[in-house]
Amino acid sequence: MSAQSLIGKRFVVVGLGKSGLGAASLLLNRGAHVAAFDENEKATAPFSSERFSLNKGPLPARFWEGAEAVVVSPGVPLSKPELVAARQAGATLYGEIELAWRFRPEGAGPMLGITGTNGKSTTTALLGELMKRHAPNTFVGGNLGTPLTRAYEDPARAPYAMHVVELSSFQLEGIVDASFQGAAILNLSPDHLDRYPSHEAYGAAKARIFSTQSAKGFAVVNADDQPVVALARGAKAPLYGFTTDALRTNAGFTGQAVGGGSKFIFTFGDKPVFHLRNRALRGKHNLENAMAAALMAHLSGVPAATIQAGLDAFPGLPHRMESVRELDGVEWLNDSKATNVDSALVALNALPGRVWLIAGGKGKGASYAPLVEAAKGKVLGVLTIGADAPALAEAFKAFTVRPCQTLDVAVGQARALAKAGDLVLLSPACASYDQFDHFEHRGDTFKNLVRSLG
Ligand code: ADP
Repeated sequence: MSAQSLIGKRFVVVGLGKSGLGAASLLLNRGAHVAAFDENEKATAPFSSERFSLNKGPLPARFWEGAEAVVVSPGVPLSKPELVAARQAGATLYGEIELAWRFRPEGAGPMLGITGTNGKSTTTALLGELMKRHAPNTFVGGNLGTPLTRAYEDPARAPYAMHVVELSSFQLEGIVDASFQGAAILNLSPDHLDRYPSHEAYGAAKARIFSTQSAKGFAVVNADDQPVVALARGAKAPLYGFTTDALRTNAGFTGQAVGGGSKFIFTFGDKPVFHLRNRALRGKHNLENAMAAALMAHLSGVPAATIQAGLDAFPGLPHRMESVRELDGVEWLNDSKATNVDSALVALNALPGRVWLIAGGKGKGASYAPLVEAAKGKVLGVLTIGADAPALAEAFKAFTVRPCQTLDVAVGQARALAKAGDLVLLSPACASYDQFDHFEHRGDTFKNLVRSLG
């Protein structure tokens, strides 16, 4: 497909978040007229083109009229009555990923798509690392980092040989023909139930990742997650699984990755064995992420030795079990991305013990009981911060608890308490908004405090 000119064509973009702006930018660069709509009266757009208009407030009647297509941002549900009405009236609706796919330049390589409830960003970044070692001209982005519509923002940009794309369920809802050579669903747990009528509807959105694949591609699923395996039943592409259950049979899979401890093996081809000795990939959850990424890289032609080198070199993502420094034999870990109990649980489960846990912030009302259970025998003490500190102190009453209010006090206390061989882990199990702008702000504050310790 060529990078068609869209001169004289009209498009509508609904929602001006990161990907809506990416969509508008792509369309304007191709010469289209773009009418953008955003409910938020504070919405802004950095376009000075006369071909661009920004309309704030509710969608007006017949807002789609005269448009080639309505590009809907992932933040706007397709079930919104005005969008349903537009579709019923014959308008063409699709999402930002579909737009990028339709207008990709001639010679653009295939896409590898990754979705799931947890681990998307880690697996996408890791697969990017593995692919780039083999095909340096690889795009990595989507829901994480650069929106896919911005991949060819620079018109002189040569087509990428490969596109590694993180996909949310909202983005997958907006796909019509966009097709992934390789597609993976990592896991599925209840999430976004505010937006979906049921857990099944959420799963169905994720399963769209397989629906447009051809038999020449490959599908990858978590073989230990039965609802995920069920979603792949309709896949046309051969199915590969990853599992941490050595006894799981190969039935239904063309091949599997089987992992345990710090290694995994492929059950097919030359049966290569891979080792996970990288601290950025600690824990069973990262073993799963690594197996998914390694399968996708392998099935895309990356040699085993290159995959191993990439697994060893992956620097990890900031704010996810990020090793900040070692000081007097104490390792300091920033897991600020753990904004809920489940994520903090994943972090604790990935560590051997002797942990000083810094937790708290804006609680989400979930019980801390599972965290307390995982902390038994592992956590030496809890340093509480933020609004939910009293609830945490109550839950951890059988532990040493130090109420610290703020992160600087918690870091100071942890410095005084931790001995060589201990770990200090910021894994708040809470949102950050009571004291910080977002989890990155909280994590960066922590890192600065830790780096300035003498
Ligand atoms: P996402 O992009 O899907 O939010 P991330 O890679 O940013 O995922 O990881 C977010 C958090 O999810 C991590 O800090 C960790 O607590 C948890 N996590 C990561 N990978 C997995 C996995 N495979 N299974 C379960 N939880 C995971």
